[in-house]
Amino acid sequence: MKDGWLSLPKTVYISFEEPDSVLLYHTEKSCHAYSRLPKNVKLMEDVYNPKNLGVVNLNEYLPDGDIEAFLDRLLESGMCKLKEQTKDAPKPISFLPILNLQNDVERLQEIGEDHMIGDNISTYLTRTVIHLNSKCGKHCPHCGLFHKQTLCCTATEPPQVMPVERLKELVGQLATTSVQVIDLVGGDLRTYPHLSQLHALVEQYPQFSWHLWQHIINGKGLSLDHVKTEVILTAPFEKTMLPETFQHDSNVWFHLLVESEMQVEQAEQLIAGIEAERCEWVPVFNGENLKFFEDNVFLNEDDIMSGPVSMREIFCHQKLNTNYFGKLHFFADGEVKADVNKEAVGRFPEKNVLELVYEELTRNTAWRRIREGARCSGCRFRYLCPSSGNYETVIGKESLCHVQPMRE
Ligand code: SF4
Repeated sequence: MKDGWLSLPKTVYISFEEPDSVLLYHTEKSCHAYSRLPKNVKLMEDVYNPKNLGVVNLNEYLPDGDIEAFLDRLLESGMCKLKEQTKDAPKPISFLPILNLQNDVERLQEIGEDHMIGDNISTYLTRTVIHLNSKCGKHCPHCGLFHKQTLCCTATEPPQVMPVERLKELVGQLATTSVQVIDLVGGDLRTYPHLSQLHALVEQYPQFSWHLWQHIINGKGLSLDHVKTEVILTAPFEKTMLPETFQHDSNVWFHLLVESEMQVEQAEQLIAGIEAERCEWVPVFNGENLKFFEDNVFLNEDDIMSGPVSMREIFCHQKLNTNYFGKLHFFADGEVKADVNKEAVGRFPEKNVLELVYEELTRNTAWRRIREGARCSGCRFRYLCPSSGNYETVIGKESLCHVQPMRE
């Protein structure tokens, strides 16, 4: 191998998260290289060291059979660049991608509250879930469990109803933010006493994409103009549960909450003939089906690396939780949460929407929760992995994967 200037393309992410190792990942080709050999790790640390401005002189590392073999692998897959040295030419510079998220929350936090209350933070809020009521008489066995994992109805005792004046105030405030999607959930939404005013609100604010989430057993007979119908289906999956009108209506979407392989088979028969794009499969944990999750949900190294995972996603994973960021739940009793399984960030309307966004940004119950537990923080896939979500909380595990971080 010729010596020369060694640098990395901007499309390559480099991870030193796992102690004494280096992982390089090509964010466009989704190929990767990994080494635990100290001299390879040192070489990559030097390339990454800011004082070297992204370039090192290979003369200082060669000849060395191990390093050359490693570099050959990187060159072959486009994960490093080698530039010939010409006499009198200065050392080149290569700007490595560094984290530079605009409006970095921690920086704003240091500046103080004045800078958080204003137009800027309204742009962080992009989606809201409004829990209109919690009244339902069906007593499903999963009630109280599935809504902690995915968007799903749930009932409480005593039942709550969001007053219509509060709903109007909330939607009016949301119109001044970057919210694009409003999800409406219950209870049995057919019993919501202000359906005609809700309909008027939908007409008044056509800029939102409105979605109404209703369990199939409460689904019949409720639809609103200009609102997408999101139908929740849970076991037992029986052919008769799906009305013909739903099956042929392209404005109706189906969410199949499945607990086992057998349920997947039953649900497949139920939706036979419906376009796959209109059906979402959602595994749900019932307290006894961990094996189903281990077999179908837990990630292994190939799943994580099958990407591609973009540089932008990797940077997001370093600062934010992409499952929760930008989303708030407004409950019928006034509580507001960023994560339905965690403490409330406040109450509406006691705090307005911008104040609630500020609360979440600074208190961080969910939006900036990154993989920093004992297991993930020593794992080379830490920032390539999807952000953690509700499953981890409900199952009670820090990570849902089959990867063995080296530190374990
Ligand atoms: S979930 Fe955590 S331990 Fe598992 S691969 Fe991802 S970062 Fe590593």
